[in-house]
Amino acid sequence: MAAPGKVAAFRLPPLPTVGEIIKLFRLKAQKQLSQNFLLDLRLTDKIVRHAGDLKNAYVCEVGPGPGGITRSILSAGVEQLLLIEKDTRFIPGLQLLSEAAPGKVRILHGDILTYKMEKAFPKHLKKNWEDEPPDIHIIGNLPFSVSTPLIIKWLDNVSRKDGPFIYGRTQMTLTFQKEVAERLTANPGGKQRSRLSIMSQHLCTVENCFVIPGEAFVPKPEVDVAVVHFTPLVQPKIEQPFELVEKVVQSVFQFRRKYCFRGIETLFPESGRLKRTEQLMMTANVDPTLRPIQLSMSQFRNLCNTYRKMCDEDPGLFVYNYREELKQKKTRKLLKSTEETEEEN
Ligand code: SAM
Repeated sequence: MAAPGKVAAFRLPPLPTVGEIIKLFRLKAQKQLSQNFLLDLRLTDKIVRHAGDLKNAYVCEVGPGPGGITRSILSAGVEQLLLIEKDTRFIPGLQLLSEAAPGKVRILHGDILTYKMEKAFPKHLKKNWEDEPPDIHIIGNLPFSVSTPLIIKWLDNVSRKDGPFIYGRTQMTLTFQKEVAERLTANPGGKQRSRLSIMSQHLCTVENCFVIPGEAFVPKPEVDVAVVHFTPLVQPKIEQPFELVEKVVQSVFQFRRKYCFRGIETLFPESGRLKRTEQLMMTANVDPTLRPIQLSMSQFRNLCNTYRKMCDEDPGLFVYNYREELKQKKTRKLLKSTEETEEEN
């Protein structure tokens, strides 16, 4: 059995422990930045094992912080490791790790939300989309406020085959608040079934790997954390542009406790709303009295395909915004009542 932090052939030379690095460089976690560190190398090894076989792989770790997961990635025998860290305080500690693994580590001080992944790895690693995933992995334990917008951005990238997916079906192993992980992986009928379930599962195989109790982090976060693994699908389950799928799914879930037609109605302007909602639901063969959480992936696919046809026939339809219409209606009402009051005076 490999010792913690040494899951594979590569052996890091003696180094200060992650705890010692935190003390040495005075890396007090900043609560307002949701910095919660993992110091237990058995847990960081477990996260890395769930990423798959990393021997000779190219890995990007997002938000390495004091470097617990970084050590496990290096110990797995990777060929190259790119570290992207926003907080400069962590760079000297990461440099220590880099020196212990000569030629393997690149450290980039930057923001993963704006970093262009297209040039992060050598071109020869590119695989065709239909082939096995490339030997490239993204791994990260990021603040929750970053991991959710980031996965939405990366799912958009999956649908366009750009960003990190210019290399093929790059796999991701990321942590989320436990409840978000449950949403990402929820099945039809499940309590946590939501917009995130459809947006992730129509593009990727999504696996909720395991839960890390809050106590395992320093400092302890308010919630438990789960590790989620994503592998982009060769064939998306809904073959429509990301924005269109997002619009339909968001509309359906906007009234999650009501019948699904209530949300679907909001795809259409007030004039002709009822007729067009009926037309969409009948053509898509979806029972209007199902609740949003009960809809299957194929029902979402039918709704998206039919809505797409309706948008092609009426080019103004896709830009229609229900909330904007409500806002304008309110403003008009307010103006009218002000005019009436003025007339009375
Ligand atoms: N991975 C380390 C661990 O597990 O102990 C640190 C985890 S801590 C929750 C999140 C890390 O992500 C911090 O080091 C923080 O500075 C970094 N971070 C936060 N936002 C980031 C961003 N937008 N881009 C890159 N790194 C970010």
